[in-house]
Amino acid sequence: MNIKLATIIGTRPQFIKAATVSRLIKEISSVTEVIIHTGQHYDDNMSEVFFKQLQIPQPHYNLEVGSGSHGQQTGLMLQRIEQVLIKEKPDWVLIYGDTNSTIAGALAAVKLHILTAHVEAGLRSFNRKMPEEINRIATDRVSDVLFAPTQNAMDLLQKEGLEQRAVFSGDVMYDSILFYSELLNESHRPPVLDSLDAYYLATIHRPENTDNPQHLQSIFSAFSELDLPVVLPLHPRTRNLLDGIRYNENVKIIDPVGYLQMLYLLRHSFKVLTDSGGLQKEAYFMQKPCLTLRDQSEWVETLEGNWNFIVAANKDMILEKIQINEYGPQTLAFGNGRAAKKIVDHLTNKKRQI
Ligand code: UDP
Repeated sequence: MNIKLATIIGTRPQFIKAATVSRLIKEISSVTEVIIHTGQHYDDNMSEVFFKQLQIPQPHYNLEVGSGSHGQQTGLMLQRIEQVLIKEKPDWVLIYGDTNSTIAGALAAVKLHILTAHVEAGLRSFNRKMPEEINRIATDRVSDVLFAPTQNAMDLLQKEGLEQRAVFSGDVMYDSILFYSELLNESHRPPVLDSLDAYYLATIHRPENTDNPQHLQSIFSAFSELDLPVVLPLHPRTRNLLDGIRYNENVKIIDPVGYLQMLYLLRHSFKVLTDSGGLQKEAYFMQKPCLTLRDQSEWVETLEGNWNFIVAANKDMILEKIQINEYGPQTLAFGNGRAAKKIVDHLTNKKRQI
């Protein structure tokens, strides 16, 4: 029996999460995938480069919603996704993570009575000021199948009464890193490393840091005082917010890089400092200690054994925790690297029973 699956993606981390699932679908002749790109991320180095590097099929639809306030962006997506779903009539809609593209996709699909599956379900920061937290809660509440990356996510879904829809899949980002790190070679070495030996890798993109000059100053003061240079891929829009922020040549700001360049940077770094959700996990997968520049983490498994410390935008904490170099054993919380297979199997079997 043939099944048609619509994948809705729109941001950098979603391209990375969807890549392994799309690769698997391409191998199954009875499954057709329609890729809908909402256009939430649209710059070449935030979007196109990932489709090329990760060999994701070009989107069948680009809804070109672009930037905007949350209401404006989500509303436009909802309207445009609905039109595509009415036309395509997929058996399943697949949504990823916690962005506006996720919640818009979920709402459009379930209201059309299309079966909806959420990949990376059950994540919670318990910080309702994060737009991502609202997107996660609402998406999990309405979706038909909730693919949880960890046991902790399964437990949280159970606490919310959603266990009947929850399926432990493992983490698709773990699948991705296992597959793509095999492809790494010297061509992926970013030029910034030509003049560096040891370094820390950092990213900053959450509004709680980028839109708060005090937080930014505290982080950049810490980066300026660290014992090794800090390589910081930074989006030009975030770079504009650095006007008036003081830092020195220890901070090596570069443009955002492709996924393979990022894995290269990660593999050769000493430690990671980030407010990204995905990079905290990738640091853990590559056994790189991490400092999380936020007040909480959804990825609580990484906090064990000194692999990840919550340091917020606190300069003293950053300078203190960066010195810790003793680690416990890692847990195998993120599955066996075959999360995509589990997801695709589940969707194809479930359809057969209907
Ligand atoms: N990433 C990348 N290039 C960069 C910065 C990050 O490929 O210049 C990757 C990173 O390795 C991870 C993902 O983007 O796989 C994380 O995305 P982001 O931090 O934007 O989102 P979050 O994970 O916080 O939702």
